[in-house]
Amino acid sequence: MSSQSNSKPSITIVDEVIPAGIAQAANEVDMLQLLLERLQQPTLQLDLQGTVVYANKAALSLFASTTEMLVSKQLHSFLASPWSAFYRNCFEQYGDPQALVHSASEMMIDINETAVPVNMSLSFMPVKQPCLLATFQDLRAQKAEIQRLHQLASTDALTGLANRRAFFETLQKLWEQCTATRDPISIVIVDVDHFKLFNDRFGHIQGDRCLQQVAYALQQALPDEDCLAARYGGEEFALILPGMNGVQAKTIAEGLRERISQINCGELAGKSGITVSQGIAAEVNGQFRTPEALLFAADTALYRAKKDGRDRVNLSN
Ligand code: GH3
Ligand code: MG
Ligand code: MG
Repeated sequence: MSSQSNSKPSITIVDEVIPAGIAQAANEVDMLQLLLERLQQPTLQLDLQGTVVYANKAALSLFASTTEMLVSKQLHSFLASPWSAFYRNCFEQYGDPQALVHSASEMMIDINETAVPVNMSLSFMPVKQPCLLATFQDLRAQKAEIQRLHQLASTDALTGLANRRAFFETLQKLWEQCTATRDPISIVIVDVDHFKLFNDRFGHIQGDRCLQQVAYALQQALPDEDCLAARYGGEEFALILPGMNGVQAKTIAEGLRERISQINCGELAGKSGITVSQGIAAEVNGQFRTPEALLFAADTALYRAKKDGRDRVNLSN
């Protein structure tokens, strides 16, 4: 080994440079504002009544405003409801500014009449002319990413329908809503008939295309946007129909059967012979105690539809 490779890494110590502006700041107020100006985080300096006395460059950019538009305004006037009323009350009621201090807290600010998610913290500056600093962190990019990941986590990659996870989450939510208001709720389980044979005959790629068309037919069969179509398993799908009793669900299922009979699987045009069997269960007046029990009944009804010859709808009684 060379002596160079044995030597310890050298550390260069750079003398801290105090910007000339800060060093020469005439007074404490100038000093604070010079520091704020260098801060990357959007910050508003407030007096103890919550009036903006200074906004740094990053704050002007976040609020898409000029200094004149921010200075002399009250902090609460930039916040969306209900935070606006909350901070107005705080500044009116608290004599002790330190009682207002808090770490990053999520809220909405109002930018050009659009509610923008931010974290805001309030810090007290015990200087000669005491003030508060409101510091913001723009959460828009973070929220958009969370939304994108949530969408990915709840969507079936092949068909674009809600996946099994999203199906159970939505079922629980809609079940609670419907039973609370004593509205009916129905589930339809849809299983492609003899799909193994289809794959064996035409191949998996054609099988995948066929599942995409079945999924499209399900989506088209939904009567309104409160309803959900999901891919429940491999070639099994499910509909959740809040507000619908068994008879209404059966009408939807028959409509779906009709749509599926018209599926055209590419070059197999009309020769695919795709059919589905469907099992329906409806909660109308408290006969099922849980959404799982309702699902089980729909699954049993599907089993009967298969047993009775497939390509049919069976309504659980
Ligand atoms: P049944 O009428 O009794 O439902 O018969 P089936 O052949 O549809 O049922 P089975 O459970 O025996 O087979 C289901 C088939 O679905 C087997 C599997 O390869 C196919 N399958 C499941 N997921 C996919 C998929 O994502 N793509 C394709 N191409 N096929 C799939
Ligand atoms: Mg099947
Ligand atoms: Mg199946």
